[in-house]
Amino acid sequence: MTMTPAQNRLAEPDHSHLLARPTRAYRGYIFDLDGTVYLGRELLPGALRLIGELRRRDARIVFLTNNPTRDPRMYLDKLTGLGIDTRPEEILNTVMTMTSWLLENAADKKIFVIGEEPLQSALIAAGLQLTDRPQDIDVVVASYDRTFEYRKLQIAFDAIATHRRAMLVTTNPDVYCPFPNGNGEPDAGAIVAAIEACTGTKCQVNAGKPDRLMLDTAMRRIGLPAQDCVMIGDRLSTDIAMAVAAGMDSALVLTGETTLPMLAAAGIRPTWVLRRIDELLPESHGQQQFSR
Ligand SMILES: [Mg+2]
Repeated sequence: MTMTPAQNRLAEPDHSHLLARPTRAYRGYIFDLDGTVYLGRELLPGALRLIGELRRRDARIVFLTNNPTRDPRMYLDKLTGLGIDTRPEEILNTVMTMTSWLLENAADKKIFVIGEEPLQSALIAAGLQLTDRPQDIDVVVASYDRTFEYRKLQIAFDAIATHRRAMLVTTNPDVYCPFPNGNGEPDAGAIVAAIEACTGTKCQVNAGKPDRLMLDTAMRRIGLPAQDCVMIGDRLSTDIAMAVAAGMDSALVLTGETTLPMLAAAGIRPTWVLRRIDELLPESHGQQQFSR
């Protein structure tokens, strides 16, 4: 295997014993996107080969993202544009996980959404009842909202603290969304923090990584239990922590946030640790090794 000088440096001086390639195949593969399949606008080495091989083996695939401001179609277009053959039902974001949680737990409740158009439309399309009258609100959904303003915070405050009836939930806990150029934007976690600060309440449900709710939704979608799936990602605190919480095997790829020295210092251990994503295929990857 050819490694770049950067990858060689990652393994130095003595953490390479942490590297571990899978010794088995899975029926379901659940992928993080940025830092795992692509980095910014570039496909990561081996991603094309891996997905092609998983397709040949009829593996079930889900791509996860915490970002609730983008339409799943945008991820589909991006992956397809990078040459990754993707189906619409394989994209799962926190708009979908939040919608499915609300349908299960608050179908007859009145909901106030602090969020952008994709979230608003999805909840309306699902038949959920939205309102901004504080005295009627049962659930405040706080999300990544670039139109956040004082009026929305006041409504959440009134529903939770004044009328003492609403619970607070969120699409995703990220406090900011990093951009490839080193910039970023305040994310849902910042809005949750504002509501928690003024109401003294705590957010009770998180529909994004690292909560296992997201993996549970993914497993339901592909119809497989945790022991038949592996979660692949580049972040210990979200991707790998979520898999551990769900009792699912995990594979850390060293192509994004985490380096081997960071892993060595962390208190969490993925099942597998890979220099690049196509090492996910067992070393001798005969067809017979893939259970169906
Ligand atoms: Mg990532």
